Parts: sequence; C-alpha cells; structure tokens
Amino acid sequence: MASAPFDRDIERDSADAPMAQNGQQNGGQPGSQDGKPKRVLIVGAGAAGMSAAYHLTQQPGQFDVTLIDAVDYCGGQAFSIPLDKDRHGASWCNQGVQGGSYIFHHTATMFARQGFRADPVELQVSFGKDEQFWTNVFPTQLLARHQKEICRLVTYLKIMRWFEVFFALLPLRLVFKLGGFSDEFTNTIALPMTALFLGTGNATPEVPAIMFERLCTSPTYGMWYKPDRHTVVSNQPPMIVFPKLSDFYSTWKDDLVARGVTVRLSTELTEIVQRDKHGVVVKLKPRTPAPDHHNPAGGDPDEPAGEETYDELILCCLADTAKKVLGKTASWREKKVLGSAKFSDDITITHNDADYMKRHYENFYREDLAVAKTTSHANGNSNSAVEDYQSRLDWAANNFRPMYYIKMYPSDRSKLEMCFDTSNYQSQFPEKVPFEQHVFQTIYLNKARDSHLWSDAEIDETKVIRRDWWHQLCHGYTHYLFVVPWVMFLQARRRVRFAGSWTLVNAHEVAILSGLAAAVDLGAEYPGDLEHDRFAFLCFRLYYLLAYGKWYRRRQTSSKSKKPNASSTNKANGDNGLIQKAQDGQSWATGLYGSVYKGPGVSETARSVWKEDMKKGLSTDNLAEKNASGRSQP
Ligand SMILES: Cc1cc2nc3c(=O)[nH]c(=O)nc-3n(C[C@H](O)[C@H](O)[C@H](O)COP(=O)(O)OP(=O)(O)OC[C@H]3O[C@@H](n4cnc5c(N)ncnc54)[C@H](O)[C@@H]3O)c2cc1C
Repeated sequence: MASAPFDRDIERDSADAPMAQNGQQNGGQPGSQDGKPKRVLIVGAGAAGMSAAYHLTQQPGQFDVTLIDAVDYCGGQAFSIPLDKDRHGASWCNQGVQGGSYIFHHTATMFARQGFRADPVELQVSFGKDEQFWTNVFPTQLLARHQKEICRLVTYLKIMRWFEVFFALLPLRLVFKLGGFSDEFTNTIALPMTALFLGTGNATPEVPAIMFERLCTSPTYGMWYKPDRHTVVSNQPPMIVFPKLSDFYSTWKDDLVARGVTVRLSTELTEIVQRDKHGVVVKLKPRTPAPDHHNPAGGDPDEPAGEETYDELILCCLADTAKKVLGKTASWREKKVLGSAKFSDDITITHNDADYMKRHYENFYREDLAVAKTTSHANGNSNSAVEDYQSRLDWAANNFRPMYYIKMYPSDRSKLEMCFDTSNYQSQFPEKVPFEQHVFQTIYLNKARDSHLWSDAEIDETKVIRRDWWHQLCHGYTHYLFVVPWVMFLQARRRVRFAGSWTLVNAHEVAILSGLAAAVDLGAEYPGDLEHDRFAFLCFRLYYLLAYGKWYRRRQTSSKSKKPNASSTNKANGDNGLIQKAQDGQSWATGLYGSVYKGPGVSETARSVWKEDMKKGLSTDNLAEKNASGRSQP
C-alpha cells in the first residue's frame, strides 16, 4: 500500500477538515476509528458495489458496511431473464451482459469464490448484409473489394502504434479520414470491429483511435490481434461466456449478508445532505420494485426520505446519478468531471423473430458471398500473392454460427444496430436448436439522436419476449479527455469515493476492479491469491494509479515478505491456514504476459452449463437433429 497517499486528500479538502483516512495513515487498523468499525455506505449493488462490499468484509471488524440499491436485486446491469424452456431449449438467458475475455481475471475469481464458472466460447461475428457482409469466419466479397485498403490498414496500424501518443485520443472517424480510407471501408469494416469491443455502439466514430489500434495490435487484450493482410481478421477470439448472472449475484448477496453486510434493496439514495468532519448525511427512501425488476417505473416521488449518517460513502452508481445525488455538496470539480460523462438511452428487445433476423442480417453461410481466393499487393508493390481460403470456406459451410451481429443503417452507415444470437452465444442452450426457435437480443442505440433510424417496429410483437432500457456510457474521446484522467482528483474528497465501470470502460471487469480499488483505498487489502496472479495484479495497480493516483505496494509477493502474511491471506481466501491457496494464484496467469487466465472460475469445455442444466431440468436436450452438421444452418 502506498505510504502517505491520504495526505493529499486532507490537504485538498482542508476547508471541511475531512476525516477520510485509512489505517495505513493512522498506523492503526485500516477501517476503525477509536476502536469502532468505520460505517461505510455503498450506493449501488452492481458489480462495482458488490466488489467494494466484498473486499471490505475481508478485514473483519474494521468496517460496518451497508449496501443499498434502488432496484430489488443485486447485479445492476448484469441480470438474467426467464425463457420458455420447451420452445428455446433453456429456461433462462443473461440479458445484455454476455461474457468477456480471458483477461477478466478478477471477474473469473469472483465467480469461483461464489461457486460459479464461465464457459469458453470462440467468438463468431456477422457484420452487414448482402454485398456489405463480412465475418471473421470466412472471407467475403466486401473484403475482396477492399483488398488494397486492408493491406494499407495493417501498415497504418503500425504507424498508429509508433505514434500512439499523437493518435491516442483522436476520434476514430478522423483518423480514418486522415489515412485516406473510403467511407465504405470505415463504416462497414473498421467501425463494427470497434463497436463490438465493449459495446461502444453509436459513439464508435467518436471513440479514441487508440481503442481500435490496441484491439488490433495488443497481443493481450487485442480481440483482433493480429490483423490479417488479406481478410482483416482471421481468428475466432477465445472468450468466456458468463454463468447465470442472477444466480451468481444472489449467491454473492447471501455471502455478503453472512459476512455481516447490511444489504438493503429497493432503497434509493436521493440526496447527500452534508459531507464534513462529522460524517456523511444522506437521504434514503424506499422504492416500490418495478414489475419486471429492471426497468424503472419512475421511483416513488411521494415516499418520504429519512436521514442517516455514515463515516464514508462509495458511490457505485453512474456518473450522472452521482452528480445529481451530490446535490449542493458537489464541488465545482465534481460537477465538471461527473457532468462530462455522457450517456445514451438504448433499448434491448429480446425476441424470437427469425424473419426479422433474416431480413436484416446474414445468419448462414452464403456461397454467393464467400470468396475462395484473394490477391494481395503487399507493401504497395507490384508483386502479388494469391491466398487460397477453400479450407476456411469448407469449415464455415457447416460451422458458421454467428453470435454477435452488427447492422449498418442503409440511410446512415455510420450508425449501427447490434444484436446477439443468444442461443449461439450463451452456454446453457442446447447445441442444436432450429433457427426459428433461437433467442435474439437486438439493441437499438441512442434514442434521443438516432431513434428515427430504428427498425424496432418491424419485430413481430407476438415474438417479443421482453424489452429492457439501458442508460449506457458513451465512449467518445471526450470521456477520455474530460472524465477518466480527472477521476483521481475526485476520490476520497470529503468522505466520498466513486466506483463503477464508467470510470474507465463499460466492462464487467472494470466495474469489479473499481469496487475493489475503492475498498483498498479505504484500507482493505488486495487479495493474496490475485497478488500472486501477475496479470491481475498489474491490471489492479494500473487501475488504482489511474483512478486514485497511487501505486499499490506489494504485500504478499515482495522480496521482503517471502512468506505471505498468513492472517490476510487466510482472510482473502475465506478459510483457515491455507497460505498455499494464495500462492496458487501464481499459476493462474499464463500465456503472453500472463494475460490468459488458467485459474478457477472458468471451465475447460464449452457448454458445460448446458450439460449441468440438463441434469437439473433447466435446459432440454437438442431440439433439432436435422441440422447436425451446423446447428444454426436452416
Ligand atoms: C446491453 C449491455 C451489454 C453489456 N455486455 C457486456 C458484456 O458482454 N461484457 C462485459 O464485460 N460488460 C458488458 N456490459 C457492461 C457491464 O454490464 C457493466 O460495465 C457493469 O455491469 C457495470 O457495473 P456497475 O456496478 O459499474 O454499474 P451498474 O451495474 O449500473 O450498477 C449501478 C447500480 O446502482 C444502482 N443505483 C443507481 N442510482 C441509485 C440510487 N440513487 N440509489 C441506490 N441505488 C442506485 C442501480 O440500480 C444499479 O444497480 C454490458 C452492458 C450493457 C448495458
């Protein structure tokens, strides 16, 4: 732990004589003040809030933690919905949040700590339609048409990497314009490749170019590493698909309660009344649960709010909500930084309208669009090389099963509609289900600006399973200019800390990391097993540096402490005397730079959830036999 980080907090907020201190500064216990546990209120029981609460409880007796959420479940944006098992083959699906990559070490560890596992999946995508269709599974006419630009892109990416400082925050659209790429190439190839990453949606033309560049050039988190000179991408990125999130979060909630956390659902923070040396005074009020649990019904304006006092507050809600509830206590800087985070209102329609999918997307292998050979003109010289893709086409003919789709609107190809074939993607579904019985989640983006483009009215109402609204972070370059670098200057000021994926990028792993960082900043210890996992530990240290301006010092793995600190290690593992368990973390980080996770919480085989759910009666056996050679083929 950094030795004197809290001096900064005290100095900045001297007007209010802040009391936000941790044990490292006091030289005493991390959380307690005058021998009493520090009372911490965590607002928001999404991934960030749950993580903050969990890691504070690893210091027994130091923190008295209360976790509230306005809705009546834990998990926030991560939840599951029920399905008709006999029709779709599975009795549930995760809504919105699907999965992540093997760099999600903290998320996988949390799954393991609660007895859950993610399953491996190799991602297949389908972008565009007809002559504008392309995929990572086999080359298509669109890619053949843009051969020269694809070759040039690979060289351009190298330049972007060399001069990253210059390109980093420039909007993607501008960078492609500067590179002389055609609109069709930018809109149909480059934008969808980026939009897929963390769901940047219709903010994609504005995202910082570094996102796209790293996606293609980073061997650790680059989904499209390495770019292919002929077909842009030729790999199927290895991903993990999440277990049933509602079960995971409700088990996690029970675990928190067992560890002494007071969990109050259907409880809304309406206002922070006071933040000073006496504590944080908040107004809380009950909220009537929405019939479908997720979509807000406007709160309960007439419900009276009661005041409560805490020692510390962690706001794990979105930035705009945080700004609102800070009310009159918000500083100029808080208003500026929190107010610079932009959000859009998107809707996911979960449905079973196979005709809509056939009209708007390419769902199957199409021989007429596939290309067996391409000719490349590498490095712009006249020497050409012919590439033969017949084996990829043969494989795709039987195995193309897109999981993630993007459609570019014909009237404005820079605007996108995104869609999941949940039956192909999530691992509780049977391997073979007739296409007409698949479950799709189509996401229509940015209601205020782009709803005139939406084709949601075309979905057959009788095939709609559910509608869910999201308030989504826009990842435009302004987020990385005016929000992310400044978050550290808001932390621990007058007893308030901020966590949530909005502090960096909208991903489950970031939310977990942000909650953990808030707990550590209050005096909790980074888990011993993850400190031995060098990639997880590096991610945490970098996040902590970015979000708090502090460098976390090794506890378990420093040369001075060859032997792990027994008490803290045991706490981190939640069982007695198993120091070895923490050291096991050493073997979790494998692959290049340790980015591939080989620890607990991820299973070895695909669709293991389906096999387990079948035994429990939650999923059915295969619903189709005729399409044995490729389960999503008609
Ligand atoms: C459609 C969609 C798909 C996604 N897919 C993926 C994916 O495949 N992989 C991935 O890694 N990430 C994905 N994400 C992103 C990921 O889900 C989020 O980054 C993460 O879940 C956010 O967690 P959080 O704790 O920061 O915020 P949230 O989950 O939003 O939690 C905030 C909580 O605060 C509560 N709250 C707000 N205001 C108040 C108040 N005043 N009082 C009390 N409580 C309050 C809210 O009810 C909510 O529960 C997706 C997101 C969406 C919307």
